[in-house]
Amino acid sequence: STFFTGAQRIPPDRIFELTAEYLKDDSPVKANLGQGAYRDGDGNPWILPSVRESRRLLQEQGLIHEYLPILGHAGFREAVARTVLGEELFSTKGSHVATCQSLSGTGALHLAGKLIARTNSPKPKVIITDPPYGNHFQVIKDVGLEYETFKYYDAATKSVDMASYRNMLQTVPPGSVILLHACAHNPTGCDPNKDEWREIGQIMKSRNLFPIFDAAYLGFNSGSVDEDAFSIRHFIGELNLEAAICVSYAKSMGLYGERVGAVLVHAASKDLALDCQSMLEQIQRSQVSNPPAFGAKTAHLILTDEKLKKQWSEDLLTMSGRIRTMRQKLYDALHEEGAPGTWEHLINQTGMFGFLGLSSQVVVELREKYHIYMADNSRISVAGLNDSNVKYVAASIAASVR
Ligand code: PLP
Repeated sequence: STFFTGAQRIPPDRIFELTAEYLKDDSPVKANLGQGAYRDGDGNPWILPSVRESRRLLQEQGLIHEYLPILGHAGFREAVARTVLGEELFSTKGSHVATCQSLSGTGALHLAGKLIARTNSPKPKVIITDPPYGNHFQVIKDVGLEYETFKYYDAATKSVDMASYRNMLQTVPPGSVILLHACAHNPTGCDPNKDEWREIGQIMKSRNLFPIFDAAYLGFNSGSVDEDAFSIRHFIGELNLEAAICVSYAKSMGLYGERVGAVLVHAASKDLALDCQSMLEQIQRSQVSNPPAFGAKTAHLILTDEKLKKQWSEDLLTMSGRIRTMRQKLYDALHEEGAPGTWEHLINQTGMFGFLGLSSQVVVELREKYHIYMADNSRISVAGLNDSNVKYVAASIAASVR
């Protein structure tokens, strides 16, 4: 007999499983284009020079291992708000923004979701893009909210389906929560342009919809945080919308395993921001008591020390630039290989991922016959490409789609 009568076998997370399969594969030509983690030109993880220097300074200053406050590292929290909002908007709206350090972007989504669930009755529905970032479903369910999806991507034009987007915004119940990707939509790599963001914000304002920005790629996308934070700053600055912003430094600082992030909540008043912040503090205390210190200290120095900040800007350009170059090289190589079909979408998409648009059969063939690992929906991590494997990947794709 057992106490665990409701136990069931949950299948492993597909992306983490794919990495495990890749690691077991002993083919010399194998390529891991599954998990979204930046790799340098030799296919190795990259420690950003800004991070390396920040670590050195922290060591020099003497690292201690005391608890952080429940809300996290105070200097880090302020620096995140300043960086995401920009100095100008921070000076006018900073006092209306609650901040709480989180376990990276995923932890920030949990905190934001719990706050929304506790401050609304009846609980609002959360609207998620289709195709989704897979973990959104689980997180939203876990915080006790229900979700629906809307068609975000038009497979025929390989771009954002604005007609469907507009229709969703015009028809969901007022008070609904829209889970937006601030930039570099995962998995499609297709974002609204600035005019489309303005239109989305305007409809959301007029229909009283609440945005959660999943901001996992600020700075990593274009190389400029200011550019990548356009949607967030427009919604808060020009439109004065209340909003939650879930920030991750996993990709933009390469601090994946250190779990560095924060949730920012822009509320209608200073008082409300303080109320929300106190609730985030209570949620945090019950979930993890207080967040991890090392990564937050590392990021704090980078965000506040002028020299390190400058180095970080260069590091962002290095990463986003290499990814853009690899997009172009993959595109060129597909052409050279005479791969049937059009591939312009690969250079038009932004961010870390390329959404190839291959059938599941081709994805399986690429894995089993060519040792090329990608998500089942044919999303590739462009950062996994380099000069040594891009031609092989293109030739394999060309052979499989023929
Ligand atoms: N949201 C999106 C869209 C992502 O792509 C990711 C990472 O892949 C995350 C959130 C959260 O990542 P983390 O919790 O590692 O910051």
